[in-house]
Amino acid sequence: QSRGYSVTKEENKVAKFPGSKGSDGKFTVSLIEGDGIGPEISQSVKDIFSAANAPVKWEPISVDPVFKDGKQAIPDEAIDSITRNYVALKGPLATPIGKGHVSLNLTLRRTFNLFANVRPCKSIQGYKTPYDDVDTVLIRENTEGEYSGIEHVVVDGVVQSIKLITREASERVLRFAFQYAQDIGKPKVRAVHKATIMKMSDGLFLSCARKISKEFPNVEFDAELLDNACLKVVSDPTPYNDKVLVMPNLYGDILSDMCAGLIGGLGLTPSGNIGDECSIFEAVHGSAPDIAGKGLANPTALLLSSIMMLQHMGLTEHASKIQAAIFKTLAEGKTITGDLGGKAKTHEYADAVIKNL
Ligand code: NAD
Repeated sequence: QSRGYSVTKEENKVAKFPGSKGSDGKFTVSLIEGDGIGPEISQSVKDIFSAANAPVKWEPISVDPVFKDGKQAIPDEAIDSITRNYVALKGPLATPIGKGHVSLNLTLRRTFNLFANVRPCKSIQGYKTPYDDVDTVLIRENTEGEYSGIEHVVVDGVVQSIKLITREASERVLRFAFQYAQDIGKPKVRAVHKATIMKMSDGLFLSCARKISKEFPNVEFDAELLDNACLKVVSDPTPYNDKVLVMPNLYGDILSDMCAGLIGGLGLTPSGNIGDECSIFEAVHGSAPDIAGKGLANPTALLLSSIMMLQHMGLTEHASKIQAAIFKTLAEGKTITGDLGGKAKTHEYADAVIKNL
């Protein structure tokens, strides 16, 4: 049986939380509230953590870009805070399309070398979707692939975008995926690829997967083509419940949103960006500018991300307590937000979770 969202275990060598409690008995966590609905959903997390007596002290930081050496960069204070605290919870950050500043999400992942993006996809009891028993985990390589940002204009009207795959980054994320499967009690790892077409890049990823699988004789390994995986997972997700899926960056981005659709949408899906030193937990969704400032946002995805964070920090009792209260509130279905068909405001839902603690 899967134990849910756990992101690390003591013996896990690929992502260990090295933080320690301060003299006040609390861990300090960097908090990037983010744009759009970010501040509203962050407030729900803060209120619920405080009501649950979670031993966490928030250190709010801004990642608004500053100019450093003529280039846009994340402020040093933000980098120092995350480096010092080893963990951050992050609200969504808006990215201008096609122009303007670089994606801060990408910059944060690169700055802290957050090589694995973990996206659990688990049905929520009480929220009706075509499938009620989805329980898979998708792990996306988070630093290279199609998102390397290496693009050139060849001549007018012709551009080239380079997909970068390295043995080092592939082995690192694959080792993490196998270890993660072992930690949460999933018997299988499946690599999702397109090595039939991208013979060299995805071919390298696949051959690394075969190699790393030998380090984990207790975890079964197989591979599936991306298009087939898309077809199969929406036709019947149940065969994916005993698996951790691992794949290059772009495939993971798209397939994980598809899986999010299976369990009720973006308001419910958490994620963790895991590195060797620091990790940043965030909802899969963006800043939702269409509903920002109206008190309509569903904070569940950020809350579930904060639960992954607590598990990563070894605060499993607090994680379980808050998670149970969230699931109870959703299953009752009385005080849920508009995206789930309810009428509750963000803070009313948070209050209902607090009552269920
Ligand atoms: P989005 O996820 O912000 O919104 C898509 C739809 O889902 C909207 O209708 C929105 O109202 C709804 N939605 C999202 N989260 C919700 C929640 N918690 N509760 C209720 N409804 C919710 O995607 P978008 O509109 O494509 O992107 C908006 C901005 O967010 C863009 O600038 C984009 O670059 C950025 N973005 C950031 C991240 C991140 O920070 N990791 C991820 C995705 C998008």
